[in-house]
Order: sequence, then structure tokens, then C-alpha cells
Amino acid sequence: MDQTVRGVISREKGKPVQTVDIVIPAPGPAEVVVDITACGVCHTDLTYHDGGITDNYPFLLGHEAAGTVEKVGPGVTSVEPGDFVILNWRAVCGQCRACKRGRPQYCFDSLHAEQKMTLSDGTELTPALGIGAFADKTLVHAGQCTKVDAAADPAVAGLLGCGVMAGLGAAVNTGAVSRGDTVAVIGCGGVGDAAIAGAALVGARRIIAIDTDNTKLDWARKFGATHTVNARDLDVVKAVQDLTDGFGADVMIDTVGRPETWKQAFYARDLAGTVVLVGVPTPDMRIDMPLLDFFSHGGALKSSWYGDCLPERDFPTLIELYLQGRLPLEKFVSERIGLGDVEKAFRKMHDGDVLRSVVIL
Ligand SMILES: [Zn+2]
Ligand SMILES: [Zn+2]
Repeated sequence: MDQTVRGVISREKGKPVQTVDIVIPAPGPAEVVVDITACGVCHTDLTYHDGGITDNYPFLLGHEAAGTVEKVGPGVTSVEPGDFVILNWRAVCGQCRACKRGRPQYCFDSLHAEQKMTLSDGTELTPALGIGAFADKTLVHAGQCTKVDAAADPAVAGLLGCGVMAGLGAAVNTGAVSRGDTVAVIGCGGVGDAAIAGAALVGARRIIAIDTDNTKLDWARKFGATHTVNARDLDVVKAVQDLTDGFGADVMIDTVGRPETWKQAFYARDLAGTVVLVGVPTPDMRIDMPLLDFFSHGGALKSSWYGDCLPERDFPTLIELYLQGRLPLEKFVSERIGLGDVEKAFRKMHDGDVLRSVVIL
């Protein structure tokens, strides 16, 4: 049977989001209905809202979510009703060229529900990142549900579904930060702080946080930054070199994604070091640099998509580390809000006032 529940949608560009009735179909083969408990407000929701991803309005926003499996469709064996799950947008297909070559963390054809959720007049909704979780319930593919320890606070657990995983994975998976490395992170919002927490978790020797906002540098210290640099006061490249015995960092992580910050990351790393680009540039951005510099600095220049994560591998592990007190995921939750507060939360996020606002359902 279809169910009608509340959901936050974006109907058109430039108009505030609305909380409306949405219709959730009964789960078909390989599909699951999840009763959402908490969903973080991510920048990507705002990008959908602003028409920056597709123009398939109306969007059902929200995608950093945790909840309880309510119903499963025919053939679903990976989860069952009552399971506590984090939703993911990398439900590995097993069939694409990345999966077939044993690189499922790059899966190019992530699975999602076949049926559409709709407005009460039948208009089909486009769920953000194939999830759509600013809603009492949502319909997803079974592969989008990753079962984790139900002892975790849902508001905290949900954040692993996107931003925190993107940052933490950029350090640990893409950048392969390991014990004894020096690491610097440009931009200390949620994603940057997650990269810092990841670097701390795996035993980086020095972790340099770089931002133009002293409040964010204070946040960064709480996640394990050993040094901070305010980019308004200091030359970033020189500051990182000064803090790494004159050499530069082994791994530089750019969570801003602008030509200026990427160049800082490039030149502030040690010879044969790694640059990881996590921040998303806009189409107009260009870089003009001597090709010789790319050769003479050696190393690796990488981009990180969703922290190169494998949800089934990474989510349960990170939840376990959090429950043991070894990963301070709870510090990412700045405030808990209601479904009607999403528009306000977008403004706070845009102004850099919060790490994460989390909608509690
Ligand atoms: Zn695949
Ligand atoms: Zn996100």
C-alpha cells in the first residue's frame, strides 16, 4: 500500500522549500521503505535547490540520513524490518566497468529505487542523490541501506552518509594518510574537519588546519588539528613549509576547490606528496601553471568522490570507532532542528555559522 507522509521539496529555483504531503509506494523488488530518524543538511541539498545539479524539479531534498527499515520488497535479503541503517549514494552495482575491475569504490552506476515517489497529485519527485530523506519515510534501493550498530545516535550516524564520509575518506582512502604523515587541510567546515578527524584517527604526525575564519580554526582543533594557519594573515605555502621543517606536507587536502586554494595545496606539499581535491569547482574556473612544475614536484594529484568510500566496509567500522570514543563524530552536530527549519538551516550553512544542522523526525 502507498503511504502519504511529510517531505521537504524544492519546487522551483529561487523559491523557499516547502513541507508537503508526498506519496511513498510500497517497496518493489530490491526496494526498501526506511522510516527516517535524522537527516543532516548538506551543501548538495542547497545546490539542488538552486538548480546547480539538474533542473528536474520538484526535488525531494535530504540525503545524509539514518533510520529504521520499515518494509522490504520481494527478494531483499541484505536488510530486514527493524534494522538501523545509514543511507548511502554508492549502492555498488557489481556490473559496471569499475566494479568488474575490482574497484567498487568508484562504481559508475550506483543503484537506486526504480519506482518514483510523488506529490499527492502524482507529480514525480527527484530525490536528492537518489535518497530524498527530509521526509518521515523514503523509498530506496536495498543496496543504499547500510546496517550499523543501533547504539549510535541517529543524528550522528546519518552524517556518515555524505559530508563526513567525503572528508574523512579524502584523507584516509584517497589521500592514504598514514602514521607519521604530515597533513594540511584547506577549508575547515564539515568536510575539512572530517578530513582532520580522519588524519588524526590514522596517526598523522602533524595536522595543519587552514582557513580564513578563526571560529573554524577553533573547530578544527577539536577534531585533532595540531597547528592552525589563518590564510588572511599568513602566506599559506610558506606557513605549511615552516610547520613541516621547511619541506611541505605529505598530503594536502583542498576542501574549498578554487584555483587559488588548489595551487596553494600543490605548492605547499613535499616532493612526491599528494594533493587531494574534495571541494567542487565551478565550470568557469581555470588553472594556468608551468607543466614542468607538475613533473618536478612528482607525487600524485587526485580528486576524491564521496571519500572513495565503500559504505558496507566503512560505515560499520567508523560507527564502531565512534561508539568506542575514538572518533568524535558527535561534534559535527551543531544543532537539531525540525522539518520546517530546513530553509533557515540553508542560510546558516551558507553563512558558515554551523558545522551541521540535523533534522530530527
Ligand atoms: Zn558498479
Ligand atoms: Zn551531501
